[in-house]
Amino acid sequence: MKVTIKKEDYEKILGHARKERPDEACGLIGGIDRDDGVREIKKVYLLTNMDHTSEHFSLDPAEQLKAVKDMRSEGLKPLGNWHSHPESPSRSSKEDIRLAFDSRASYLILSLMDDDNPVLNSFHVENGISSKEELEIV
Ligand SMILES: [Zn+2]
Repeated sequence: MKVTIKKEDYEKILGHARKERPDEACGLIGGIDRDDGVREIKKVYLLTNMDHTSEHFSLDPAEQLKAVKDMRSEGLKPLGNWHSHPESPSRSSKEDIRLAFDSRASYLILSLMDDDNPVLNSFHVENGISSKEELEIV
């Protein structure tokens, strides 16, 4: 599947991820699955990492509910989530795979390991296997 994210939304999560360092930052993504097979992220949500560590994240359930309500009110659907890796590469950790319950979701990981070259990837996780999706910043 091909996933697109708007440049302004990418900048939004990048800014938040930088601000939250050294902790991981996290949030949700909402949008649409187009008829041509492209998954279009139309809105990103910045949520609180309740774990407050650089190793993993937990989304705040109340904020999550609020974000999903907002998506529904705008005709969008929840497409998955995003989180940052302040000091490690942009790929799913064992923990990320363990916690990826939804095989239809896209899991975005933003690596800040190289400060000048942040890397954002999208992953699909199914049966314990994480595979990279095509992601385009538009
Ligand atoms: Zn992770």
